[in-house]
Amino acid sequence: MTYYSTNRRTPEVTLEEAVIKGLAADRGLFMPSVIKPLPQAFYNTIETLSFQEIACRVAGAFFGEDIPKETLDRLVCDTLSFDTPLVKVTDHIYALELFHGPTLAFKDVGARFMARLLGYFIRKEGKRQVHVLVATSGDTGSAVANGFLGVEGIHVHVLYPKGKVSEIQEKQFTTLGQNITALEVEGTFDDCQALVKAAFMDKQLNARLALTSANSINVARFLPQAFYYFHGYAQWKKTAGGMNGGTDAAPVVCVPSGNFGNITAGLFARRMGLPVKRFIAANNRNDVFYQYLQTGVYTPRPSVATIANAMDVGDPSNFARVLDLYQGSHAAIAAEISGATYTDDRIADTIRRVWSARHYLLDPHGACGYRALEEGLRQGEQGIFLETAHPAKFKDTVEHIIGGEVTVPAKLQAFMQGRKQTVPMPKTFEAFKEYLMTL
Ligand SMILES: *Cc1c(COP(=O)(O)O)cnc(C)c1O
Repeated sequence: MTYYSTNRRTPEVTLEEAVIKGLAADRGLFMPSVIKPLPQAFYNTIETLSFQEIACRVAGAFFGEDIPKETLDRLVCDTLSFDTPLVKVTDHIYALELFHGPTLAFKDVGARFMARLLGYFIRKEGKRQVHVLVATSGDTGSAVANGFLGVEGIHVHVLYPKGKVSEIQEKQFTTLGQNITALEVEGTFDDCQALVKAAFMDKQLNARLALTSANSINVARFLPQAFYYFHGYAQWKKTAGGMNGGTDAAPVVCVPSGNFGNITAGLFARRMGLPVKRFIAANNRNDVFYQYLQTGVYTPRPSVATIANAMDVGDPSNFARVLDLYQGSHAAIAAEISGATYTDDRIADTIRRVWSARHYLLDPHGACGYRALEEGLRQGEQGIFLETAHPAKFKDTVEHIIGGEVTVPAKLQAFMQGRKQTVPMPKTFEAFKEYLMTL
């Protein structure tokens, strides 16, 4: 399978090139040249299959031409070391819980898959050690570091701003050891990002080291996110769909969105034939996409800070992929995706209400998704929202909202007990380069 750039100003590339480069040479995002539908027989019996079995079928449609089946199946099974259960919250609303992975957020799926795929390419080509550079303001660093932990042939260097990430986040990438090094930068997140960018541009460094990024726009992080849409549907079909035989044959799917990678993977799943009635993209106050749906005009703007901070994005990078899927047609996009936008007050109100009425504890991101279904479902419809992170990841915020304690899962507590190990780093490129040159 070849991959083209959304800007269409460079030749198509192989999967391997798309994964190693991340971004196309013309700065566009890679798209698979074909989206293969899965046969009706698969959908007829999907509820009898395990998550791994479903994901292997989906992975085969994406990557089957480029990776031997046995290898691909093993990559998928290694990635999915945890489940994504569907939980009933009301008669019409279900939560697809994506927070049962190592760092308790959905980004674990994409990060774990990308690490394993990159590891496979390195072994296959007999490549020397590859160095992954990642700048983080918190959550990306933990998902990438944990996803790549222990993968042979790859060393990850996480750059983060000293004193500017929460203790829980910091512990998730500074206590791991092995092939993960955390660099504690005397500066801001922007400084960290600038250092990484400068390293990718530096001729001397690139001649000496194989450098790559684990950016969320990478196809190897983005496409595997389709897996759990199929698994969510399978579980829905087994319970809600089956029992309700008479109601609508497909659920509405609602995705709390920031960079729009997660929802775009859902749009791919639908193109492959997955029964989804329509999508809702739930935004916080950073609602550039919502405004686009209303007006037909896309106007990026600087992000503002909210309590659903992983969705604080002012210019969603995957918007280019959404446009490409619908050939730039606003009408076609608006026919399949509707939007919603919530202030911090509404998010907090939703968390409080659902906790007291249903005893289901939402995190601030999932709360946007739940609320958009509550307000957006029509008569006879059922909805699934993606619960993208565990509420304990936002412990202080959520405890303040519900006025009670949030239990921290053992997995998160284990990180807290680890010993922080970092390399102190000034924010100058000279210092960072010197560090890299000694590797
Ligand atoms: C990254 C993230 C999102 C946003 O996902 P996108 O793919 O960027 O739209 C939502 N919720 C949580 C918890 C996240 O970490």
